[in-house]
Amino acid sequence: PVILGIESSCDETSASVCVDGHILSNVIANQTVHEAFGGVVPELASRVHQQNIIPAVHKAIIDAKVSKKDINAVAFTRGPGLLGSLLVGTSFAKSFALGLNIPLIDVNHMQAHILAHFIDDPKPKFPFLCLTVSGGHTQIVKVNDYFDMELIGQTTDDAAGEAFDKAAKMLGLPYPGGPLIDKYAKLGNPKAYQFPEPQIPGLDFSFSGLKTAFLYFVRDKQKVNPSFLEEHMADVCASIQHRIVTVLINKVKKAVKETGIDQVAIAGGVSANSGLRDALLEAEKKWKWKVFIPKFEYCTDNAAMIAIAGYHKYLKGEFVGQEVSPLARWSV
Ligand code: ATP
Ligand code: MG
Ligand code: FE
Repeated sequence: PVILGIESSCDETSASVCVDGHILSNVIANQTVHEAFGGVVPELASRVHQQNIIPAVHKAIIDAKVSKKDINAVAFTRGPGLLGSLLVGTSFAKSFALGLNIPLIDVNHMQAHILAHFIDDPKPKFPFLCLTVSGGHTQIVKVNDYFDMELIGQTTDDAAGEAFDKAAKMLGLPYPGGPLIDKYAKLGNPKAYQFPEPQIPGLDFSFSGLKTAFLYFVRDKQKVNPSFLEEHMADVCASIQHRIVTVLINKVKKAVKETGIDQVAIAGGVSANSGLRDALLEAEKKWKWKVFIPKFEYCTDNAAMIAIAGYHKYLKGEFVGQEVSPLARWSV
């Protein structure tokens, strides 16, 4: 089957064409309007989605060298995400399906981040563990089957991506600062500064204490030496990244021990982080895990992951009707 996938949960408008489980196009339109605000402004995001969605879908169809009438189903992100943003993708998908008289497939964005592992080889075998780390979520998920997922750990406050972005903001870096921290960290010493490891029971996470500790650290250092950040940016970035990554890896280690599952995948925007990728590869060697790391383009928000999830739902015959509406919150 030929599946058109549409993603619009946050600030990326994306469209992708998947043919028999192979991704033939993945068009991503980023939104730059939010940079000036230090975070995504929901109202602006939905307006830009409206401008981007038709060109994105058009380009995805052309790039894939298919024709509109070849498309067998439309898969779209139904949630979780910003309601206004989701509404644009959902309404577009519904109209597209209605116009072509083809079925409509609703996709859970957090499941899709995980199912991105089924785009390329090697693919994990069920069951596996997935650490999903993105702008809005930090979860450890036991993946029993394509659409049978158990949430076994999650953040009690900020998400890992948020921790990166907020730390970056305190360093005066533009939004989203996660990738910039990563960039500076490559030039710095991860052991230069020590930040406290949050003590949270079980498989849950917390980043708010670390955020406060980092805020005070930056403030105090700057008080003594106003050019502290300019002089030590790389070491500061390497150290905070190192702490966030060790928090994540230590919980995954615990999850591996508790479940006896040693296939570990990462998903979501923060899985683009080089420190996390390196730490996971090290864990593979040290503890004999089998790790799965997605291609960069499938880490942050993209429609290829929606299309591949849609493909697997299509095979199961799971469709939704025109009455479907988006869900701002929707568990994995
Ligand atoms: P969710 O998927 O939870 O709804 P989202 O869609 O906004 O949230 P993604 O697009 O999956 O999240 O990921 C964006 C997040 O990933 C941002 O917080 C960004 O800073 C972070 N991120 C991207 N690349 C890197 C990197 N190299 N290092 C650290 N963080 C990164
Ligand atoms: Mg985003
Ligand atoms: Fe996402």
